[in-house]
Amino acid sequence: MTAHSPSVQVLLERARRFIDEEVIPRENLRRAHERDYNLALVQELRALAVSQGLTAPRGAVADGGLGLSWAQCCAYLETAGRSFLGPGALQCAAPGQPDITTLEALATPLQRERYLRPLLQGTQRSCFAMSEPAPGLGSDPRMLSSRAERTARGWRLNGHKWFATSASVADFAIVMARTEIGPSLFLVDVQQPGFDIVRDVHTVEPFDLGGHAEIRLQDCEVPADALLGEEGKGLEHAQLRLEGARLFHCMRLIGLSSRAMSLAQQYALERQSHGARVSEHQMVQAMVADAHIELHAARLMTLDTAQRLDAGESIRHHSAMTKVFVSEAVNRVADSAVQITGALGISEDWPLSMIQRLLRPFRIYDGASEVHRSAIARRVFHQGLEA
Ligand SMILES: Cc1cc2nc3c(=O)[nH]c(=O)nc-3n(C[C@H](O)[C@H](O)[C@H](O)COP(=O)(O)OP(=O)(O)OC[C@H]3O[C@@H](n4cnc5c(N)ncnc54)[C@H](O)[C@@H]3O)c2cc1C
Repeated sequence: MTAHSPSVQVLLERARRFIDEEVIPRENLRRAHERDYNLALVQELRALAVSQGLTAPRGAVADGGLGLSWAQCCAYLETAGRSFLGPGALQCAAPGQPDITTLEALATPLQRERYLRPLLQGTQRSCFAMSEPAPGLGSDPRMLSSRAERTARGWRLNGHKWFATSASVADFAIVMARTEIGPSLFLVDVQQPGFDIVRDVHTVEPFDLGGHAEIRLQDCEVPADALLGEEGKGLEHAQLRLEGARLFHCMRLIGLSSRAMSLAQQYALERQSHGARVSEHQMVQAMVADAHIELHAARLMTLDTAQRLDAGESIRHHSAMTKVFVSEAVNRVADSAVQITGALGISEDWPLSMIQRLLRPFRIYDGASEVHRSAIARRVFHQGLEA
């Protein structure tokens, strides 16, 4: 794919060994729905990964990260993503990683010390609370209904959020609320009175390490320096976060879907049907070939967008195209993997059905496919872009 320097190559090989030898063998499918168990396991694995210098691939070296470029992260995240527990263990899972990107870009020196450093060290966790249940903000950011009013000592937040990933286990949240000037971001400690977690919304996902919380903000008072970035620039700031986050999801979910196809190939080579191995049936071969074609294309698109980001280009258009293609391709690959594996594929005896359930929401979060397609087409017509 891409040539890495010898030191990055060594790092990638160490990460691969760590995932194969320490992380995947510790996945326990029978306990896939036990959050406390898996959270404790990830913490243990993360401590081991920290001691081996394998965590926070995008974090700056000065802040305790590995300082990899976006392009170098493609292979690193794909490796981490092969395990349900890998991104958490290597400190590159959402929402932590995109929150690191946001804080690195926007935090004041005090905010870096208070929020960014513990995040990079893995001693604290964060969440990002932008989405709201109807009639608030979903796909349409103009529908933001949470409010922030100025007070003598800072800000008072009121609103209703949901699907804030990991909020139930987070130490602080980045909350989007509308001030008089416009949508703005605020750093809020979850212990702050008025920041109330109502519940975790149950979803199809296994190995859920932090849930997706519904939150009520009720006269939640935060100091003046809780404002992150510029007042009124919350949507632009969120965009900065989302573009990198989308790429990270593409990278890690390519890893998970590639693992699904590897398992299906293994099954097809061993299982007999109608006097032949499953792998000898042409329709199965077509599914396997298509999966390899799709994953190859998905990797190249992700790498190209990552290189553009490294070069400082605006990736709005490319990240949207990449997100749509990769989110749909990894789902097609996982669906074929399940089909090839028959009943075992949909059981919880093997990881395939769990992989499929983890991949499905990617067509919705960080922008639903339809919303991206409509934005892509709008840019094409407004800017006269050639295909
Ligand atoms: C697993 C998961 C994790 C998440 N984590 C977070 C998080 O950490 N923080 C956070 O703030 N949010 C999070 N979200 C919320 C996520 O960002 C929203 O689900 C997403 O923005 C879509 O909003 P919605 O669900 O309200 O869908 P809606 O806005 O209600 O849209 C529903 C559907 O309508 C269609 N649609 C909508 N608009 C258009 C359009 N313009 N053109 C064509 N079709 C359209 C699409 O098919 C879309 O899927 C998460 C969601 C999931 C599933």
